[in-house]
Amino acid sequence: MDVATRIKDLPPYLFAQIEQKVAEAKKRGVEVLDLGIGDPDLPTPQFIIDRLCQEAQRAENHRYPSYRGLAAFREAVAQWYHSRFGVELDSEREVVSLIGSKEGIAHLPWCLVNPGDIVLASDPGYPVYKIGAMLAGGNPLELPLYPQNNFLPDFSIFPDSVWKKTRLVFLNYPNNPTSAVATLDFFREAVELAHRYQFVIAHDLAYSEISFDGYHPPSIFQVEGAKEVAVEFHSLSKTFNMTGWRIGFAVGNDKVIEALGRVKTNIDSGIFNAIQWAGVEALSRYQEVLDWILPIYTRRRNLLVETFRSLGFDIDYPQATFYLWIPTPQERGSMEFASYLLDKTGVVVTPGQGFGKYGEGFFRISLTTPDEVLQKAAERIRKLGG
Ligand SMILES: *Cc1c(COP(=O)(O)O)cnc(C)c1O
Repeated sequence: MDVATRIKDLPPYLFAQIEQKVAEAKKRGVEVLDLGIGDPDLPTPQFIIDRLCQEAQRAENHRYPSYRGLAAFREAVAQWYHSRFGVELDSEREVVSLIGSKEGIAHLPWCLVNPGDIVLASDPGYPVYKIGAMLAGGNPLELPLYPQNNFLPDFSIFPDSVWKKTRLVFLNYPNNPTSAVATLDFFREAVELAHRYQFVIAHDLAYSEISFDGYHPPSIFQVEGAKEVAVEFHSLSKTFNMTGWRIGFAVGNDKVIEALGRVKTNIDSGIFNAIQWAGVEALSRYQEVLDWILPIYTRRRNLLVETFRSLGFDIDYPQATFYLWIPTPQERGSMEFASYLLDKTGVVVTPGQGFGKYGEGFFRISLTTPDEVLQKAAERIRKLGG
């Protein structure tokens, strides 16, 4: 049986090779320490689980939810935005619930892109930007992120002709995988460009709360005029250790939010209301959760940065995200280095090329692993270097 061209044309899954090597190592009896996956090891806070349990008992929550999201959840989002960023949102027109932000990111191109329209996606980057554009028949182009530019894109590399065909630009700061952050000046430049060429900016703010040393990542809506051209995606996954729950949201330009809602009403029927009520609980008590998780990630970050520095790796302490993005030693290929590290130590890291061709020459480490595992990994890596 033949599958459709749009599926055949999807790029190969670049982590398959490393997954196979991990499986082989496990078979040989190696104790594998996985620092590859960005999925919090910490549990969802108990008060969020309790709220889900209560709400699951209520019959009114058992019916189809609203495709735009529970009004109380959208209001909680607007309140959180106000307290966190000082940004005003109309919860009726400028907020939509998502079944995880990945769902919204993948559906957004369907709302905005006609066949052949250009979609710019940062590279290295979260693979869904490019794949969502491809599935919608768009023409994805890479927006390269270079270390010499602090992993911020240089918009001047594209000629006028590219910008004129561009409908959508995906940005993501704090950034996965590079852990780079952006200033409001950067967002100002992006918003000006979007006004000039009439494209939409989709800013993925999944890591807005995972930040260190008193740094608080901004929202693009702190820039004047951003609501006319931008939407912002958020996830409860990373902030609240809720990756399996599938709840996120998008906010911003009302026409784009309306279009996303229209796609959703035709495809899915929203998130289980009991989960959205748990989301209300989470957003209203977010500071408590941060007071618990951020010291843990800070400690883990420090341990790993110190370990790699002691071995001569040139890395800074990231200001945000739970990732370290590290140049491979002696300019080795990222896949080759990841395989070497796995063979010698049993430690799994993610090769940079899995995030796009401009990720080559780097590897990513995730801090979403219990302290004991990170400690053991750090010791084995130290021994290898010494
Ligand atoms: C994890 C992640 C997401 C997806 O989050 P969900 O809400 O779980 O779908 C989106 N963007 C980036 C950059 C991520 O790392």
